[in-house]
Amino acid sequence: MLSDSLVVAKFGGTSVANSEALALSAAIIGADTRRRLVVVSAAGGVTNLLVELTSVISAELRYQLLKDIATIQYRMLDALGRPADVAAIIDGLLSRMAVLSERLAEDRSKALKDELLACGELCSSQLFAATLRQQGINAISFDVRTVMRTDSYFGRAEPQLEMIAHLAQLHLAPLLKDQVVVTQGFIGRDSEQMTTTLGRGGSDYSAALLAEALGAIAVEIWTDVAGIYSTDPRLAANAKPLAEISFNEAAEMATFGAKVLHPATILPAVRRGIEVFVGSSREPERGGTWIRNRINNPPLYRAIAVRRDQTLVTLHSLQMLHARGFLAETFATLARHKISVDLITTSEVNVALTLDKTGSDSSGEGLLSDQLLTELAEHCRVQVEQNLVLVAIIGNRIASTPGVCRQVFEVLEQVNVRMICQGASPHNLCVLVNEQEVASLVAALHGRLFEDLSA
Ligand code: ADP
Ligand code: ASP
Ligand code: MG
Repeated sequence: MLSDSLVVAKFGGTSVANSEALALSAAIIGADTRRRLVVVSAAGGVTNLLVELTSVISAELRYQLLKDIATIQYRMLDALGRPADVAAIIDGLLSRMAVLSERLAEDRSKALKDELLACGELCSSQLFAATLRQQGINAISFDVRTVMRTDSYFGRAEPQLEMIAHLAQLHLAPLLKDQVVVTQGFIGRDSEQMTTTLGRGGSDYSAALLAEALGAIAVEIWTDVAGIYSTDPRLAANAKPLAEISFNEAAEMATFGAKVLHPATILPAVRRGIEVFVGSSREPERGGTWIRNRINNPPLYRAIAVRRDQTLVTLHSLQMLHARGFLAETFATLARHKISVDLITTSEVNVALTLDKTGSDSSGEGLLSDQLLTELAEHCRVQVEQNLVLVAIIGNRIASTPGVCRQVFEVLEQVNVRMICQGASPHNLCVLVNEQEVASLVAALHGRLFEDLSA
């Protein structure tokens, strides 16, 4: 008899990358009967290969990429003993990738790109469901596009919440009563029945949206780290796992680049007060991080996040001097190009602002178009610097606690800071630096703010 309370479990790329990972992930589902909705990403590496397939490439490279994708899928299929029904679906999807990538040579539409990108998740959901069945768990796969209604902004589609709730109650809830349902993250469908995607890393968001639509009690994000750490464990050996953090802190971390969670994931959870857990599918016994509405004694410093690929745009105009309307005009131009500005600092005749790739679409299309630069150049001088890195110190009461700047500036003594933002948010202090400064800066900041007990 299955329990009524529903837990949505999402498995990222590494957790469905090969048959060993699939088996470990399936065992997590088998360990708790409340985990009845599984949301999967494409197998590790597959979305990157598909993105490459959507660019302009030679026939040889196209063939090679298709072969690489097939190898990843077939290895898992073979380990399952090639069940005929699943093999037929995987074969169908691989042929579809070949056809779509060929069509893309003529039709470079974003709709077609999304159709192709979706194939990764469609494959892994089949393989996950088959793995569960092999472990004796009653499981089916379900095409999430039946319920994940979005707008038609291909590559970065916006989910339509009311429609998703309605469709999920109608088509998905009844299936969850007595079996495990495996579905896809990242993909959706617009009202014209065209496939859309939610942007890179969007499977976390899908899981949270489905949890909201179905009134789940928790969302579990199973990944390759045992929870959220005080900084990316790949960057600092001393990064500490966090047992519990608040929605606010998690949202700040995700927004400022902690890849472990997609920035939008927290929104549905906050709306419904659904708890989010992050843990390692390889080592579930190590526990992980609970993200909760309220936590006791939030610390001054919680984490350091790093976001790469930042673009700094500096606008210079004498029109700004004692004038009104320059910023309004600039932001209107950026809004027309669907650019969301991230950080901003101003002086009398300069505005510096950063853009980042979080807002770019699934196929990674650039943000700063020539058209936009031309429009900006009509009313000011524009300077663009690429490949900068934003290092964000995340915490609580940062803007109202004396001594924060002293501690941070001590560490920054030798660093060339291109831009600094402090004061707007109680939750962060951000510095923009060159790539070559990042590793030592993060290690030094982590040491000073998280390891130095006299701090
Ligand atoms: P998945 O494919 O499961 O979605 P991701 O690669 O998107 O996994 O996210 C997991 C990765 O996030 C980790 O391997 C880690 O390098 C990175 N990461 C960045 N910041 C943090 C952090 N503060 N805590 C834990 N992991 C982090
Ligand atoms: N497969 C997609 C990506 O790699 C979505 C995800 O993994 O969350 O971006
Ligand atoms: Mg991810």
